[in-house]
Amino acid sequence: MAAPKVAVVGAGVVGLSTAMCIVETYPSCSVTILSDQFSPNTTSDVAAGMLIPHTHPGTPIHVQKQWFKDTFAYLFAISNSAEASEAGIHLVSGWQVFKNTPKEELPFWSDVVLGFRPMSKAELQKFPQHRFGQAFTTLKCDCPPYLLWLEKRLKATGVQMYTRKVADLWDLHSEYNVVVNCAGIGAHQLVGDEKLFPVRGQVLRVHAPWVKNFIRDGDGLTYIYPGIHRVTLGGTRTEGSWSLSPDPGTTKDIFDRCCSLEPSLRGAEDVQVKVGLRPSRQCVRLQRELLSQGGVKLPVVHNYGHGSGGFSMHRGTAKEAARLVGECIAALEGSSSRAKL
Ligand code: FAD
Repeated sequence: MAAPKVAVVGAGVVGLSTAMCIVETYPSCSVTILSDQFSPNTTSDVAAGMLIPHTHPGTPIHVQKQWFKDTFAYLFAISNSAEASEAGIHLVSGWQVFKNTPKEELPFWSDVVLGFRPMSKAELQKFPQHRFGQAFTTLKCDCPPYLLWLEKRLKATGVQMYTRKVADLWDLHSEYNVVVNCAGIGAHQLVGDEKLFPVRGQVLRVHAPWVKNFIRDGDGLTYIYPGIHRVTLGGTRTEGSWSLSPDPGTTKDIFDRCCSLEPSLRGAEDVQVKVGLRPSRQCVRLQRELLSQGGVKLPVVHNYGHGSGGFSMHRGTAKEAARLVGECIAALEGSSSRAKL
């Protein structure tokens, strides 16, 4: 069989990292990315990009932990390289604070991040409304720089990228041997997945260079995440809302909540407001499917539905998606050699 042609649909963090893993694992493949939007116009560009996982109720914890470990190890290596600043990857230390001691004092990811420990009394004095807290160091991806870095590396390996809206995955069957669906919330329409729903999120990006530590309220709703150039303030989670318009009342509410955690933010400048739709599902859809029409077959690998945790687990799910692409190629090679007999 000639070099298998693989199309990846989607150019958010999941599509780009999946294309990267396919190229790394199967260098003989010809990989093309098709997407109706590229950075800076994807949901991934809106994300704060912090590596703090959310739990997917429909996926076993050990699987989620492995995805997080793979992602952490990959980004940690970048953060320790000369590529770190161009890739927008950096270590950040800080605090997750709780008004009451949480049921689960040791989250499943506590031994993956660095130096996870209960906060000391002296640290808790900074947060008079909170009674318990955890201190740790994790990683943050700044977007768009990370997406642009991935795009640049993919282009250097010969990956083609085209702006194209795919109406139906089957439309690609005459051009490609395998199709990988990384359409994020777009998969709702693309493959009619009714289990996929938007969770709208609004965040602010502000200039506050004195803020160096992250602060996250234990409920995950209010957070302050310093990036290399700007600080992300969040946030909101509105299930089922498809609106991409910023809401001024919400902007004020986010700002006030963040100032109650870090009063110095009252001096922040140049507030930018961003809105995105988290592609949410009970579990990430990471599986093979064989489309078939009139005896013609098209193997598809789905990799979407990362919800609030696309950055926290993108590399882990991309590795698994690449493995599934390998299975599709092996099956195609098996059927083409049987046909020759
Ligand atoms: P997307 O980035 O949406 O990419 C999908 C791609 O598919 C796009 O390029 C789109 O144009 C393309 N596409 C869709 N349909 C089609 C079609 N029919 N044809 C062609 N192309 C198509 N996660 C974290 O881990 N940490 C965080 O701190 C964090 N903060 C967040 C804050 C906010 C406010 C929001 C909204 C999300 C946050 N997330 C965070 C979640 C994270 O953003 C998502 O999980 C992640 O971006 C999903 O990536 P994706 O590549 O699947 O989707």
